[in-house]
Amino acid sequence: MAEEDFNAYEMAQKQFDRVADKLDLCEGTRKVLRAPIREYHFNIPVKMDDGTTQVFKAYRVQHNDARGPCKGGIRFHPKETVDTIRALAMWMTWKTAVANIPLGGGKGGVICDPHDLSDREQERVCRGYVRELFDELGPNKDVPAPDVMTTAQHMLWMMDEYEKIHGSKAPGVITGKPVGMGGSLGRTEATGYGVIYVLREVLKELDLDINEMTASVQGFGNVAQYAVELLTEYGGTVVSVSCWDQEDSKAYSYYKEDGVDLEELRGITDRFGSIDKEKAKEKGYERLPGEDWLKQEVDILIPAALENAITEDNVNDIKDDVRLIVSGANGPITPEADDVLEDRDIMVVPDFLANAGGVTCSYFEQVQNNQNYYWPKEEVLEKLDNLMTNAFYEVWDLAQSENIRLRDAAYMISIERVADAIEKRGWVCKK
Ligand code: NAD
Repeated sequence: MAEEDFNAYEMAQKQFDRVADKLDLCEGTRKVLRAPIREYHFNIPVKMDDGTTQVFKAYRVQHNDARGPCKGGIRFHPKETVDTIRALAMWMTWKTAVANIPLGGGKGGVICDPHDLSDREQERVCRGYVRELFDELGPNKDVPAPDVMTTAQHMLWMMDEYEKIHGSKAPGVITGKPVGMGGSLGRTEATGYGVIYVLREVLKELDLDINEMTASVQGFGNVAQYAVELLTEYGGTVVSVSCWDQEDSKAYSYYKEDGVDLEELRGITDRFGSIDKEKAKEKGYERLPGEDWLKQEVDILIPAALENAITEDNVNDIKDDVRLIVSGANGPITPEADDVLEDRDIMVVPDFLANAGGVTCSYFEQVQNNQNYYWPKEEVLEKLDNLMTNAFYEVWDLAQSENIRLRDAAYMISIERVADAIEKRGWVCKK
């Protein structure tokens, strides 16, 4: 889905191999974990509003379910690829394991651009996705959620279609639903807030005052907006955010020296997370090239858009002022860039730890669905904060004691947990 020569799946496998070697994983376990257990490729026929029919290519990849039902979002994106979905499914396995929630990893996608589809057409895509995949989904099998360019409304259409075919209520089949329709309070905020809970703890460990921190963010969608919200609430300053501009087919960064005003920007942002460039100008934002979000003289960078954002080609554009990169997006830093960042002493909090707040809250949503009893927002966020903070300290402590980078420590914890599950289930010979 990103640039042509970038393959997210190869990157995810490379990251896995690096840690599998360190852990001395047995051959069987390595083979099982290096590839998805199941994947589905299918076509969704959709009657368009103008009376024509379009067929959309769709995927669902289930990487591993040894620790629980597969869990992972569904993306709508015109440049989606099956290899990106494979990588994202694999990262979901590590994410649920590092957060220590009883779920596995999966991911889905539809090659489509919701900008070009009416609401009715999007609804038909959602219902078609569930119809084609019905037998493979279920609260105890595989549970989708929103991701890039999909929302609570898409999830509700999918749940409704599932329940119609199933013949009874099954709210736990999908998470990220609207509040009041089986959704959890706090789910919208969860991923972005989770990024900042982890950031808050790293800063404590590094003895840095959050009130003095400046940050620059890539993206201005769900994850980015809530990360900006909580970081600002904690006293930090975000000087720039970026987004995709549909009209110009390129990204822009928006900069304000004293810090962006979140509510002001939200007021001029569409539902896809694109900021209106003319209105931003009127409000005094400087419009910079898309790449410039990472060239800012700030303490913290938060990539929260797409994968492949920091590569060996641009990693040296990052200024020496930057101390920390906390990944909101999945797969935003390539292994080559990771090596450079380590040499430059810039700490990286890996994606599948930092952005685990979304799936954690999705898990809480399922628990509430099962109880048919819904918790107040404060309770959800408190549980989320505790779980994210605990997950962070497990990773931090291992990284400190082994003198390894946080990404390797996070991988070691999650791979060991999943390997333990598949070995105990008897899926592999321990040789
Ligand atoms: P979103 O669709 O709400 O927002 C995506 C944002 O990225 C938009 O502002 C868009 O304009 C921007 N963008 C797209 N291409 C860009 C580019 N080339 N340069 C700059 N900005 C660009 O998506 P989201 O839900 O916020 O997800 C963002 C990332 O976080 C993805 O990697 C996703 O997989 C990951 N993630 C999301 C969740 C979740 O709960 N939503 C959970 C975990 C991880």
